[in-house]
Amino acid sequence: KAVRFSITVMSVSVLAEGEEEAVTVFREQKPNSEMSCKPLCLMFVDESDHETLTAILGPVVAERNAMKNSRLILAMGGLPRSFRFHFRGTGYDEKMVREMEGLEASGSTYVCTLCDATRAEASKNMVLHSVTRSHDENLDRYELWRTNPYSESADELRDRVKGVSAKPFMETQPTLDALHCDIGNATEFYKIFQDEIGEVHCRPNPSREERRSWRAALDKQLRKKMKLKPVMRMNGNFARRLMTAEAVEVVCELVPSQQRSEALRELMNLYIQMK
Ligand SMILES: [Zn+2]
Repeated sequence: KAVRFSITVMSVSVLAEGEEEAVTVFREQKPNSEMSCKPLCLMFVDESDHETLTAILGPVVAERNAMKNSRLILAMGGLPRSFRFHFRGTGYDEKMVREMEGLEASGSTYVCTLCDATRAEASKNMVLHSVTRSHDENLDRYELWRTNPYSESADELRDRVKGVSAKPFMETQPTLDALHCDIGNATEFYKIFQDEIGEVHCRPNPSREERRSWRAALDKQLRKKMKLKPVMRMNGNFARRLMTAEAVEVVCELVPSQQRSEALRELMNLYIQMK
C-alpha cells in the first residue's frame, strides 16, 4: 500500500503592529488540487501498521511541533519579517483519525471520533450531537489508560477513557475527507436515480422485486452508455463518474417524467457547482 502525507498552504494573513485583527492576504481556492497540495512524504506502508507509520512520520511530527512553537524570521524588502505557522490536520479518513488519535478501531463501542457516544447511545439519539473530543483530551485519557490512577477494572477504565487505547500521535481536525464525502454523496444519488427510474413518488411502498428491477435498469444503462460496471460497494472512481452531467443525462433517458428529469438535472448541476 502507498500512503501520501501532503501539505497545502491554506491561507496567509498579516497582523500589523498595534492591530488587533489579522488581514488575510492569500487564501487557497483549490486546496485539493495537486497544484497546491504537495506531497511531503510518500511511503510504502500499510496505514494500519502503527509502528512503521509512526516511525516514518515521527520526524515530520517532531518538526511540526518545533515549528508551532517558534518563529521564522525572513528578510523581505529589507525588513525582517516574522512568520508563525498554524497547522490543521485535515482530510484523514475515519480509520486514519482513529489511528492518529489513539482511538480503538472502527468496530469499537465508542462509535464516534468526534464525541463520546457509544453505539447504544447513538442509536437512541440521532440528532443532538456536538464535537467534544480533542487531541489534548485524548492525550490526557491515554495517560489515565496507561497509569490507571484509580485502580479500576479494565471495563471501568475503558469507560473512563472512552475508547482511547494508544498514545495519540498527531492532532487531527474534525473534517470529512474528500474521498468519503464523494462516496457518501454518490451513494445517495445512486439511490435517487433508482427511485426516479421507478417513479417512487407515485408508488410509496414498492416491493423488493420492483426495487431490484429499477436498480438492474440503472446498472444496465450505466454499463451500456458509460461503460460503468456495477459495484458491490460504492468506491471513489464510480462516485466521480456518477456525479457528472453526462451520467445524469444517461439516467434521464430512463426517467419517464420530463419534469422530474429536469429537476434531476438541476440537482446534479447544483451539486457540481457546490463542489
Ligand atoms: Zn458523535
